[in-house]
Amino acid sequence: MKTALALAVVGMFLVTATAMTAFAASKASQISIRYVPPKNPAHQPIYKDLKERRALEKLQEFLSPFRLPRTVQFSLAGCDGEDDASYGDEAITICYEYVDKLWKNMPAKTTPAGIAPMDTVIGPFVDTSLHEFAHALFDMLNLPVLGREEDAADQVAAYIYLQLGKAEARRLIMGTAYAYLTDAKSDDAPLTPKEFAEDFAEAHGMPQQRAYNVLCIAYGADTKLFGDFVTKGYLPEERADVCEEEYEQVQDAYEELVTPHIDSALAKRIFNRTWLRKTPTLKQRGRGLPRPKDAP
Ligand SMILES: [Zn+2]
Repeated sequence: MKTALALAVVGMFLVTATAMTAFAASKASQISIRYVPPKNPAHQPIYKDLKERRALEKLQEFLSPFRLPRTVQFSLAGCDGEDDASYGDEAITICYEYVDKLWKNMPAKTTPAGIAPMDTVIGPFVDTSLHEFAHALFDMLNLPVLGREEDAADQVAAYIYLQLGKAEARRLIMGTAYAYLTDAKSDDAPLTPKEFAEDFAEAHGMPQQRAYNVLCIAYGADTKLFGDFVTKGYLPEERADVCEEEYEQVQDAYEELVTPHIDSALAKRIFNRTWLRKTPTLKQRGRGLPRPKDAP
């Protein structure tokens, strides 16, 4: 599936790396979007809501600084019962079933950690969309990936939205961690040997690990802004100790491999903007982030 065709064609003209960047930067954003009408009538409200919120248009605009050799198709579609998202053949699909799961797991009110209900949907929706977009970057830009691609995609996704303003980055990180930990809770029932193998052979990390990875990269990015993750015990100190290093590792790779394919002036404008609607923050005391065992 991976193709280096576009880069190879450019390479034939023996242009320099700088000229290649300038060439790529002159091209318009190539993300096309599509809301596929759902086959399942139960997904109709999700389809309508996301369309009204212009969810895909916002993602399209948010990703407009990235210069890709060809168009990426970004779709919201029904996936015959799979609550998933995927990338393949230069197309990203976010399933209505996945959004439905996020809606169903949404808490009734702001959590004790201060996570607004809506952020438990928006956070993972953005995180997953960017995770799939990271796969598109790896594939379409022919980027080398060290380590597991699923882990790298998680890291690139979080790295991108950590470049947003502090309040928004925090809301997205907390919402995403909440969704993973809530997901882990639904996996609590004893596993059959087949389920055990399927879970642990998964190309993705376990939801619990993905939650701590996202908390770690955030803490690594800004130990002040996310310092309470450690003081409140959401992120164990043993892991927190290596998070700055983990973040810098991602940053180095990103700057070397992805940044040359970004229109930096446009990216500055995009990342300086406010993207999320304001939500009331309730100051409550209590448990904070859900743990795998006590997630509501
Ligand atoms: Zn993936």
